[in-house]
Amino acid sequence: MISTQIQTAAYLFAGILFILSLGGLSSQESAKRGVYYGIIGMFIAIVSTILGKDVNGHIYIVVAIAIASVIGIVVARKVQMTAMPQLVAILHSFVGLAAVLVGFGSYMDPHTLALSDSERTIHLVEVFIGVFIGAITFTGSIVAWGKLDGKIRSKPLLYPGRHIVNIILVIISIILGVLFTMAPGTDGMLYLYIMTAIAAFIGVMLVMAIGGADMPVVVSMLNSYSGWAAAAAGFMLGNDLLIITGALVGSSGAILSIIMCEAMNRSFLSVIFGGFGDAPVATSEEIEGEVTSTTHEEVAEMLKEAENIVIVPGYGMAVAKAQYPIHDLVENLQKEGKKVTFGIHPVAGRLPGHMNVLLAEANVSYDIVLEMDEVNEFMDDVDVVMVIGANDIVNPGALTDPSSPIYGMPVIEVWRAKKVIVMKRSMATGYAGVQNPLFFKENTDMLYGDAKDSVNKLLSEM
Ligand code: NDP
Repeated sequence: MISTQIQTAAYLFAGILFILSLGGLSSQESAKRGVYYGIIGMFIAIVSTILGKDVNGHIYIVVAIAIASVIGIVVARKVQMTAMPQLVAILHSFVGLAAVLVGFGSYMDPHTLALSDSERTIHLVEVFIGVFIGAITFTGSIVAWGKLDGKIRSKPLLYPGRHIVNIILVIISIILGVLFTMAPGTDGMLYLYIMTAIAAFIGVMLVMAIGGADMPVVVSMLNSYSGWAAAAAGFMLGNDLLIITGALVGSSGAILSIIMCEAMNRSFLSVIFGGFGDAPVATSEEIEGEVTSTTHEEVAEMLKEAENIVIVPGYGMAVAKAQYPIHDLVENLQKEGKKVTFGIHPVAGRLPGHMNVLLAEANVSYDIVLEMDEVNEFMDDVDVVMVIGANDIVNPGALTDPSSPIYGMPVIEVWRAKKVIVMKRSMATGYAGVQNPLFFKENTDMLYGDAKDSVNKLLSEM
């Protein structure tokens, strides 16, 4: 058992570590340090909570933590890098579910019944809002998991009048909230049940209405919601650290969502409300030109001649785990005095920062990993661009075809380079399901095959 003062001090210390952790994660060099701060902060948070004065049944808590830790370690070790977004989405759903359960538990808690009138009203508002956000996060995250895992169609489900329906449901929830806070004892349970069902429905419909290229924003938005759900649980439990942590996650997730919306040239409101305004019609414009393919020998020759080379990786690099041979290829090219840089699109892959993580894993030096705007600046001077397992993020239709679902999203303008090599297995479309006019351009050649095999073959050719 520790005193309340020691617990408060421990919470403060853990809160500072979480802030340092977030700060550390903002750059690749300090990211590892940031993760360690987070681990230590979380350890202090859990231990000081368990040792708190109102906590009983330590044996159950320790057993639950042991079981959960084993599950967590097994899942984290087993998960493929390509399945990471789904894992993140499903973990967000747990936070939402936890907030709902804490809300119900807190409502039935005898301490709540014993509160004075005004304190009780404030507490019941906290419970109601916490359960509302938690239920939306819970079901919304499950739908996001289904969409990212391919179990639910990614295409947005847009039905007429859906915004009106959502607004009416929110108004009904507010009325239920008023009745809930006025109900004596635990008589408001029915209102809480109905509102939970409504919020769960809103969560499903909100995420069903978002799809295609807007999915990255959904992931970061649900991250933000899970933070607010945790903060709400913190209010219900009177736990300052949970409030601080929830607010940190909530606001950083919201900031990330806004940054990603800006990167994709989407309005934040239009994304979170699922295609508010005009829904794009997926009828792509007529594509002119012919697709030409090339061989590993030819590409190896081209690379030998080139001075300035840009590599644009995408989701296919993650699927093929091609980052390791790519690292070796880059080293070889650099040894021959060539300038090699990577161009990273903000939504490449299936997770914010997906490509950066993979390249860091393969020890690619950070200073040659550039952002989209940086490589676009000098694209006209590039001799060869190698597009490795990327598709949507290099689609010129995003700039020229108003009927495309990704219209308006800035892309890496690889076609402005002298030569483009697209390395993928077939002519299949990418995540947004649209054909890519890049493949038909005169200066583009397709190099078919698994990205890792192709890079290995290039390495041996060179
Ligand atoms: P895309 O999904 O557009 O394209 C990936 C391409 O990789 C496919 O066309 C596929 O073609 C190819 N590929 C798959 N496996 C292999 C392999 N083993 N070897 C070689 N190629 C392979 O990926 P991008 O990175 O270009 O774009 C990301 C898309 O995902 C965007 O639409 C983005 O909005 C969306 N998204 C992004 C998220 C994020 O947070 N970053 C989250 C959710 C969605 P083929 O089958 O012919 O090989």
